[in-house]
Amino acid sequence: MSLFLGQVLECVLGKETAIAMAKDEAKASDFSKGLLQSEELYKYILKTSVYPREPEALKELRSVTHNHPMANMATAPDAGQLMEMLLNLVNARKTIEVGVFTGYSLLLTALTLPEDGKVIAIDVNRSTYEIGLPVIKKAGVEDKIDFRESEALPVLDELLNHKENEGGFDFAFVDADKVSYWNYHERLVRLIKVGGIIVYDNTLWGGSVAEPDSSTPEGKREGKKAILDLNKKLSADKRVQISQAALGDGITICRRLC
Ligand code: SAH
Ligand code: CA
Repeated sequence: MSLFLGQVLECVLGKETAIAMAKDEAKASDFSKGLLQSEELYKYILKTSVYPREPEALKELRSVTHNHPMANMATAPDAGQLMEMLLNLVNARKTIEVGVFTGYSLLLTALTLPEDGKVIAIDVNRSTYEIGLPVIKKAGVEDKIDFRESEALPVLDELLNHKENEGGFDFAFVDADKVSYWNYHERLVRLIKVGGIIVYDNTLWGGSVAEPDSSTPEGKREGKKAILDLNKKLSADKRVQISQAALGDGITICRRLC
């Protein structure tokens, strides 16, 4: 925002609103335009529909994540907004999150769950979770979180060792190592109840899924191969209804059918 425009806004809107708007505008640049055609369009969506409704605690979480070298791994706020709606639509009470990082999608989930709700949150790295933990504590939702520092697969397998966990969860968000997505799916499709939802993040892999390998940087090819494989298998999986949404880096929403 230019200094002049900032001053005009301050006069018209009052200082606090002007500062908040400036803060939001700066934050819009934290995210790439994702899969959209222009940065302007993405900023428009964030400013018009997302930021005005984003809880303060999530804004704070974005702000504590801002300087982390991997800050771009955090869930895009527009994708988060859809996730919040999906959690509400299935009246989610018990959920699973695979891949926490500093906790944007985790805090969003915990804020959306009812008082007696629980999210089992799995990540190999506790130290990044701890970056966001003070914000989670301040928001008063830490009690809803059961954080497990571990590879995700053994945790999912352990859950399946208990019969009562089959169909015992309403929702799952998967945002960790892409090569394991299909293995997670085979477990989650049993842990999530019929009618429940599993969301996979990064399923368009920067748009590279529709490009020849020669245009994909070497370091992104293994993930791309895994995502291509996942998308193909999900498309053929009759156990779930699917929708591929081009939000953030692409998310695939699966609803368990049987
Ligand atoms: N959903 C998060 C972003 C997750 S980034 C947010 O909204 O901010 C991916 C995370 O997956 C990283 O924190 C990484 O430590 C974790 N991860 C990678 N491989 C994993 C594995 N095999 N099991 C569990 N977590 C894993
Ligand atoms: Ca992601």
